[in-house]
Amino acid sequence: MALAHILGFPRIGARRELKSALESFWGGTGNDAQLLETGRQLRMRHWALQAQARLDFVTVGDFAFYDQVLNTLALLGAIPERFGFDPQKLTLAEYFNLARGSTEHFAMEMTKWFDTNYHYLVPEWTDKTRFAGGVDWLFDEVKEAQTLGREAKVVLVGPLTLLYQGKIKSGLQHKLDLLPRIVDGYARVLKRLREAGVRWVQIDEPILSLELDTRWLDAFWPTYAALVKDAPSLLLATYFDEVSEHAALLQSLPVAGVHLDLVRGPRQLTTFAPTWPQDKVLSLGVIDGRNIWAADLENVLANIRPLQEKLGDRLWIGSSCSLLHVPVDLANEHKLNPAIKEWLAYATQKLDELAILKRALNEGTRRVEDALQLSRARQSARRSSTLIHNPLVQQRLAELTEGHSRRGAAFCERIALQRARFDLPPFPTTTIGSFPQTESIRQARAAHKRGEIGHLDYLNRMRDEIRLAVERQEEIGLDVLVHGEPERNDMVEYFGEQLWGYAFSENGWVQSYGSRCVKPPVIYGDVYRPEAMTVTWSQYAQSLTAKPMKGMLTGPVTMLQWSFVRDDQSREVTALQIALALRDEVCDLEKAGIGMIQIDEPAFREGLPLKACHWPHYLDWAVRAFKISASGIADDTQIHTHMCYSEFNDILPWIAAMDADVITIETSRSDMELLDGFGQFAYPNDIGPGVYDIHSPRVPRVAEMERLLRKARGVIPDAQLWVNPDCGLKTRGWPETCEALSNMVSATQSLRRALKAEQEQARVSDV
Ligand code: GLN
Ligand code: ZN
Repeated sequence: MALAHILGFPRIGARRELKSALESFWGGTGNDAQLLETGRQLRMRHWALQAQARLDFVTVGDFAFYDQVLNTLALLGAIPERFGFDPQKLTLAEYFNLARGSTEHFAMEMTKWFDTNYHYLVPEWTDKTRFAGGVDWLFDEVKEAQTLGREAKVVLVGPLTLLYQGKIKSGLQHKLDLLPRIVDGYARVLKRLREAGVRWVQIDEPILSLELDTRWLDAFWPTYAALVKDAPSLLLATYFDEVSEHAALLQSLPVAGVHLDLVRGPRQLTTFAPTWPQDKVLSLGVIDGRNIWAADLENVLANIRPLQEKLGDRLWIGSSCSLLHVPVDLANEHKLNPAIKEWLAYATQKLDELAILKRALNEGTRRVEDALQLSRARQSARRSSTLIHNPLVQQRLAELTEGHSRRGAAFCERIALQRARFDLPPFPTTTIGSFPQTESIRQARAAHKRGEIGHLDYLNRMRDEIRLAVERQEEIGLDVLVHGEPERNDMVEYFGEQLWGYAFSENGWVQSYGSRCVKPPVIYGDVYRPEAMTVTWSQYAQSLTAKPMKGMLTGPVTMLQWSFVRDDQSREVTALQIALALRDEVCDLEKAGIGMIQIDEPAFREGLPLKACHWPHYLDWAVRAFKISASGIADDTQIHTHMCYSEFNDILPWIAAMDADVITIETSRSDMELLDGFGQFAYPNDIGPGVYDIHSPRVPRVAEMERLLRKARGVIPDAQLWVNPDCGLKTRGWPETCEALSNMVSATQSLRRALKAEQEQARVSDV
């Protein structure tokens, strides 16, 4: 008899109940008891769903009021010492202080969990870090689940993954120096779980899908040999990529079972299956925890059936990873195209898929004939749907040549033409695109959406905002202007709404961090641009000024990366389709007289595969997609791009290969250190390192920005250097924005004076 389970369930709630409860708690309108009660109800509801689907376990330990990594630290007692909290008496308020900071302490750092859009709090390791035990929350949750009368399987972030994902703050040579202590800490937790009657613990070690050095790999055996001694049965879970290269290690580990992600690594089964030891559970992650497409159940069955005879009840089936990364319940979608809705499965529907698979395995396919037939019908309806296939797009893809991803002339020739055309001063000043999204903008958009104000009225209000933004930029004295993006709710949604092939959900929320959720659009079909998307806005903005106005687009990789992407063709092909749509927009902007066009790619780096050996392939198509969108224009039209997190020293050759005429990047928070890589690499094109951090309302002083600019001049040749903030200003208010930008212009002017003086000096000494 095969068993079924999930690796974790989204905790935010189908109606984002956790978000509301957290925000009233933080805002002072809710108290501890209310928040705790919301948490309890959500856990109960999610366990009930797992029970209804007749899964063999309810998964406990996937709940957290903010983040599961922080919860693990709280459980072990390993919260950062700098806060001075007693780990055993940690209160909810203190827990949130760790996550969000307070007047006395800055918050723990937050970063992306592997290649997901979920952000975890980064553990802080020092020689003083102890794992001597913390709060009892997990043990209380186990009791809660047990009162339901269901078998509770506990999930924990594994010790090696926890260590690896943390950051050394002080006093340690290597993170593994903490290994003996952390193993003791986990051993105590596992012993207590066993005493509480827990029979299975799923222990997540997703770092196994990275390229680990031998020191980390060698740590697995002794760690798990120590942990299994006085513990429930351990299921070591890997996910996010295949782990075939560790097959021997995984089979030899003294754990009771291993979980594999068959969605990300379908081929690894052929490595593992033939030699899988008889006495170990093999859990197969067959239901996609990272995407929203309904599974092809017959196909899944065909893959796992051969293992059933061999493994019996040691065969488990499950989600590929935690369902944290998909929305909660499709039943709350009332506006989706019904045809498309049929093709989808959110977390709740994925439980049903597992239930069907389990019955098919254990009781025979005849018992679930109807369900399998429905799945088959949906798959074939999707494959043959006219919603998906667009012959026009297919034909253009087939006709793509080398020439489509090449500008006419090389950069050095282009830039000469562009300089002659735009006649900008040295160190041109600009901004990244958005200006403050004020309350009145948001209100107008909401009113328009509700139908309370007509289209024309809305248009006029947005035009007023654009005019205001242009006037202010003129006053401040910026050289290259932007329209300010008031008409955009979100840089991906705005374009997705105008492209064919994109759908938008009403309630497809996924947790990004803490109470923050995002609602990624769904790319279900061939992407096609029926008409121009931004041209009238940009044209209007340009009509208000004699200075160059940048057209503003979101690049193909970012459009892909921040969406749920169709799984019936490669991401590469989808990216190329988006690139072609953007290429048409770029050409239309040029025709309308827009001389500078920015194609933002903030998600370019986060699209990198987990394993570095897969980077070149990704980078090749990602660069190609960008170039296809940017290359259909004349040499004197200037292409800009923008990327936020600028730690891309390791991929600089590809950034350069994108061949944007100007790139603007985030550098102020690292004190321009991120720029060094560009200098050493001798980045050939123009570059605008951000001179102030837009994430904070603080207005930087002129002298601070002058200092950063002088630093930048030390690395980047003067002719290539632009001046701009780190990123878009949409989260800021107008007063601080105007002040900061004015200071930025003053700093630039003083830089120009310095340059002029140097040039005169040079002339004098020449004579
Ligand atoms: N043009 C966008 C803006 O200014 C870029 C945002 C981003 O890089 N995330 O808002
Ligand atoms: Zn940015």
